[in-house]
Amino acid sequence: AHLDRIGATDDAIHAFLHVDADGALATAREADTRRAAGDEVHPLAGVPVAVKDVITTKGLPTTAGSRILEGWVPPYDATVTKRLKAAGLPILGKTNMDEFAMGSSTEHSGYGPTRNPWDTARIPGGSGGGSAAAVAAFQAPLAVGTDTGGSIRQPAAMTGSVGVKPTYGGVSRYGLIALASSLDQAGPVTRSVLDAALLHEVIAGHDPCDSTSIEGPVPAVVDAARRADVQGLRIGVVRELGGEGFQADVSARFTEALALLEGAGAEVVEVSCPSFEHALAAYYLILPSEASSNLARFDAMRYGIRVRPDGVDDPSAEQVMAATRDAGFGDEVKRRIILGTYALSSGYYDAYYGSAQKVRTLIARDFETAFQQVDVLVSPTSPTTAFPLGDKLDDPLAMYLQDVATIPANLAGVPGLSLPSGLASDGLPTGIQFLAPAMADERLYNVGAALE
Ligand code: GLN
Repeated sequence: AHLDRIGATDDAIHAFLHVDADGALATAREADTRRAAGDEVHPLAGVPVAVKDVITTKGLPTTAGSRILEGWVPPYDATVTKRLKAAGLPILGKTNMDEFAMGSSTEHSGYGPTRNPWDTARIPGGSGGGSAAAVAAFQAPLAVGTDTGGSIRQPAAMTGSVGVKPTYGGVSRYGLIALASSLDQAGPVTRSVLDAALLHEVIAGHDPCDSTSIEGPVPAVVDAARRADVQGLRIGVVRELGGEGFQADVSARFTEALALLEGAGAEVVEVSCPSFEHALAAYYLILPSEASSNLARFDAMRYGIRVRPDGVDDPSAEQVMAATRDAGFGDEVKRRIILGTYALSSGYYDAYYGSAQKVRTLIARDFETAFQQVDVLVSPTSPTTAFPLGDKLDDPLAMYLQDVATIPANLAGVPGLSLPSGLASDGLPTGIQFLAPAMADERLYNVGAALE
């Protein structure tokens, strides 16, 4: 049914870069056969999933939304992919995204944009717009995304879906094509909080292949989603993540959601995290710095396309590399490589990268202080509803501002969950975001399920 739905709707939506009908059907049939034989199978065995194209899948093309990786078929599975397969989830295919996960609208994909199923003239958010649109368009019941500065939560908000960025280190990064290694984290995109919890438990857990992977038990997120009890829970509204710059409707739906939580017995207070004001600036130094270093591996020798420079008979390796990177990388990727190499260059390192790291510490301290006062923090996920395609393409700063509320969690490594908070007067979904202390992901599922 999901493959049919993809066939019927994906010309209009373009959520998928690659569909693996045969592979998905074979896995689904295997789950059926095993269940019929009375084998013990995972509850999600046979439930299809869509996977963001930044996560490697053995034998299936993986491009990270970039032309530079066109035609690359990874020889190995990411740990996330391995775990999906081990639990018996059929992988429907790979979803579209901003190139190397840089963007907030999926318009920076090297393969054309994804459209929002609520209004195909609008963007689905980004960078994981494909995963969110696939879920919202009923092409897939479950999807996996990655979130470096909001790329799971913001598209979830813009498509009326649930999206979770787990605690940094909660889900293995092995086999994720790295954007910014100290910020990247994979997580679920679904239509309900309980679905997200079920998928979270499939992909999470310690992995020796990722040196930043947390040792210790996976938070009991499914139990928490079933509990859905906020009686006496202290919820802190972050003063700095709302108000000015937020669409009036987004703020109105947010206030209504808080009233519902109070009605269910939660205590809602305001807290201040003064350093959050500088989070966006720090992120847009740290992220390009790490990205410029991570993207050095695309050297025309090891992966993807190789372009010969025009009019050169016997090109050097460096000329081939330059021609390949020129043709294979899009404008946003080039912009960030230049920013990152500049911020890291000698003479500027302390002023830019060094200062940004100090701000990062202040942000982590703000979270610590806030979590001494409250159990979870809350804010709107994104300042606006989905905007029309092309609206912010010529204005990188306007695009970056989309992430103002989601970025602090990545800088501090804490988990975040976005869920729908009702429609704005333009008929488009809004999102509300909860944040919890590191390794307390279950709190998000408890409060999310209570509000749902
Ligand atoms: N939109 C943010 C950026 O462009 C976040 C990206 C992400 O989370 N992958 O960097």
